[in-house]
Amino acid sequence: MVEGNYNKVLERIAKTSGLSIEDIQRKIEAKIAKLAGLISKEGAAQIVCAELGISLENEKFKIDELLPGMRKVNVVGKVINLFPVRTFERQGKTNKVANFIMADETSNIKVVLWDTNHIELIESGKITEGSSVEISGGGIRDNEIHLGSFSDFKPSDQKFEEVKTERIVKEKSIAEFKPRDSVSVRAFIVQAFDPRFFHVCPECKKKVVLEGDKYVCEAHGNVPAEKRALINIVIDDGTESIRTVLFNDVLPDLGLTELDDTERLFNQKQDLLGKEMLFSGVIRMNSFFNNPEFIVDKVNDIDLDNLINKLENKG
Ligand SMILES: [Zn+2]
Repeated sequence: MVEGNYNKVLERIAKTSGLSIEDIQRKIEAKIAKLAGLISKEGAAQIVCAELGISLENEKFKIDELLPGMRKVNVVGKVINLFPVRTFERQGKTNKVANFIMADETSNIKVVLWDTNHIELIESGKITEGSSVEISGGGIRDNEIHLGSFSDFKPSDQKFEEVKTERIVKEKSIAEFKPRDSVSVRAFIVQAFDPRFFHVCPECKKKVVLEGDKYVCEAHGNVPAEKRALINIVIDDGTESIRTVLFNDVLPDLGLTELDDTERLFNQKQDLLGKEMLFSGVIRMNSFFNNPEFIVDKVNDIDLDNLINKLENKG
């Protein structure tokens, strides 16, 4: 969600420095050229800022102005989704981490708290879902604000009438994909693997294991398991390709409807090759292969003829 905010930051640098946006763009491009392309335009913008003597550190940002790599951002927002505090072991010590989604009128972003004093505000109920919060000295890592012991985190009196709660999906090329991005891309299916099947618990939707002839859920014991399918495909938009996973619910939109007929399903799978579609979802790191993977939760046809056919058939 952060990538497209670059232009807003340009505007802010222009306003603060009194230079034109074109001048600042030239400086940024010169910086990138000088560093032989080793730096992103966001990174170059921050160097240019430092060279102009502009500090963005004391400015309050709207969420849609935040850029990857910013180190001391100040932002106010409303907690719209609070996740349970998690504990984890590191070097024999128990640590805690808390996460929530914060929104303002422009966008929303995940916030990660690492400091026990900050986490305490959540554990004690001083900050709950619906609270307004003020962050100072937060760092932007990937698409998240991370707060450590040098950051400040406290309740705010600011009221938010309307905030952006929907997931912010940015159109990106595959070459620009980064872990945890919510993205949509128009791409061709260049490879399709055999669909795979597994069973889940009807209560908690987690995978069940087959013991003898019964399916067992870790939490719910013997359950009448539900059959689910997934398919791995590779999509390519001309900039790069990425391994992509689609689950059960989106398979019909992809064109896979014959989930119980192996032969028909195989034919449908073959038909996917070369098809261009609009894919939306999130990028995550596959811990097994240690490479990025695109988890798609929405597929749209962009084939006009196909669309028209569908409409006519419905009529
Ligand atoms: Zn279960």
